[in-house]
Amino acid sequence: MATLSNSEAALRRDIAACTRMLVHENILGYSGHISARLPGRDALLIQPGLRSRDEVNPEDLVVVDFDGNVLAGKENGKPPSEVFIHTEIMKARPDVGAIAHFHPETATLFTLTDDVAFAPVKNHAARWIAGTPVHPDPSHIDSKESGRALADTLGAYEAALIRAHGAVVVAEDVRALFVDCVHFEENAEALYRAAAIGRVNPLTAEEAKSFLSSFDRNWHTGKLWSYHVGVAAKAGVIDDSYKSEA
Ligand SMILES: [Zn+2]
Repeated sequence: MATLSNSEAALRRDIAACTRMLVHENILGYSGHISARLPGRDALLIQPGLRSRDEVNPEDLVVVDFDGNVLAGKENGKPPSEVFIHTEIMKARPDVGAIAHFHPETATLFTLTDDVAFAPVKNHAARWIAGTPVHPDPSHIDSKESGRALADTLGAYEAALIRAHGAVVVAEDVRALFVDCVHFEENAEALYRAAAIGRVNPLTAEEAKSFLSSFDRNWHTGKLWSYHVGVAAKAGVIDDSYKSEA
């Protein structure tokens, strides 16, 4: 591998840790993927499609341009067939630095019924108070056209569900993305359980506004990232060197 800039090397380490830790949290399974925008380039980093999610290493990642062409890391394997989720959203959303596509068990349930819609019920789900659109097509998103259709469904929102398939969550960077994915599925589980015991009262716009007015996203991201890195290192999911970077 050619010499990497510090920022690319750091991004690679964050993606590898994020991927392994999301597996450890039962949020990523045998499929799903994390991408990060390479600063100043129309290109992103993503894992090869066949690399096991619980074994992703920084050097495994491939560099893909926004047309889906592999620019580096070809020898590591092809990008995932659903890479177009990432390329088309990165093109449409210059504010997005990192994307997760995954197939969460609980959040996906809310694409299967008309009776209970996905809604923010836990305070940290205030991030999605503007809404979480549901993409109507459950197919694999394995073409530019279907990637663009999903990017259109996502629009300016921070997450979308894909009917009978999964979810896409976007954030400014990989660490914030990790924390958002944890809260996204945690909120879905809370909603599922609340709906089982009674009528659900989701967060109101006023409650979300009040919560967010005193919420420091960077501080919260740092705290949760560092916690999960510690837990994952103890469990042998990532090596101890990540702790010094957390
Ligand atoms: Zn998928």
